[in-house]
Amino acid sequence: MSEEKEKVLIIGSGPAGYTAAIYAARAGLKPVLYTGGQPGGQLTTTGDVENFPGYPKGISGPEMMMELQQQAERFGTRINYGLVTKVDFGGWPHKVTVDETKVIEAEAVIIATGASAKYLGLPSEQRLMSRGVSACAVCDGFFYRGTDVAVVGAGDSAAEEATYLANLCTKVYLIVRRGEMRASKIMQQRVLSNPRIEVLWNTETEEVLGDEEVRGIRVINNQTKEKREIAVKGFFVAIGHQPNTGIFKGLLTMDESGYIICKPGSTHTNVEGVFAVGDAADKIYRQAVTAAGTGCMGALDAERFLAAKEAVLS
Ligand code: NDP
Repeated sequence: MSEEKEKVLIIGSGPAGYTAAIYAARAGLKPVLYTGGQPGGQLTTTGDVENFPGYPKGISGPEMMMELQQQAERFGTRINYGLVTKVDFGGWPHKVTVDETKVIEAEAVIIATGASAKYLGLPSEQRLMSRGVSACAVCDGFFYRGTDVAVVGAGDSAAEEATYLANLCTKVYLIVRRGEMRASKIMQQRVLSNPRIEVLWNTETEEVLGDEEVRGIRVINNQTKEKREIAVKGFFVAIGHQPNTGIFKGLLTMDESGYIICKPGSTHTNVEGVFAVGDAADKIYRQAVTAAGTGCMGALDAERFLAAKEAVLS
């Protein structure tokens, strides 16, 4: 196992991680950033981002992440591909293991590990994962051009996925478990006015059907208890996300869903020198712009922490 020493280590490469990197690099802290398993984070699986200030015409998620990466690199951030597998916050500097091959001793750690898509938890969904089951229409929708597909969920993600897929597919069934959607009014309007989208209200998925590939789904109306099989080639799950904080369990204070709890109005966790930013610590807003905002806060908090530490040590 090789060993390295760093001043500021950033874990994660979404808008929060890259913004923390831009600020830390410009403050002369020479940060190193480890990307995690999905470089660029969740926005790499999004279509157009239309709500990030400063892009009046919108920008594609992957393009935005490339630009954020370049901006972080421009000021000297070292960006490495690697997955943090273990952390030891028992002493200081903190010890972070990457890919089981390297231990990094870091004076400040900024956690920007984000969140991942949730699944229904059906065995058939698991079995047919990537063989018709997907949590990303923008990534996989292309493969289902000209076919019928289903989307499960009723939030903005589900509305966005259904609308995106309706441009490619012949028919999109949107499976909503209640009699109403949680999505914003404008997104709901897009769904409800799209002739290729049929919303199945009060409906739950019992099973994803198919041996080698998805051939359909069996759904049940939870009011009438009526069951029905629908032929689809793709099954897109868009029911929200969970924070990627498993490796910090027991070490950092979290809420019951695993979101890291920071000291109010800051990015300080319960461990000195460990900061949490972006979706890993935000179950409420979960937007690219709020993630970027807290990324900036994390870098500023880390900078002040290091300056105070240096003053004490000198
Ligand atoms: P949400 O948590 O908002 O919605 C999840 C949806 O999935 C809910 O409607 C929920 O149903 C449904 N759901 C949860 N579990 C199940 C289940 N087991 N079976 C069936 N349905 C289930 O998550 P989103 O990912 O949609 O959105 C997260 C955040 O990101 C929101 O703040 C949203 O506004 C934002 N967002 C914004 C976008 C944009 O502005 N372009 C695009 C995408 C997301 P129920 O309502 O019954 O609880």
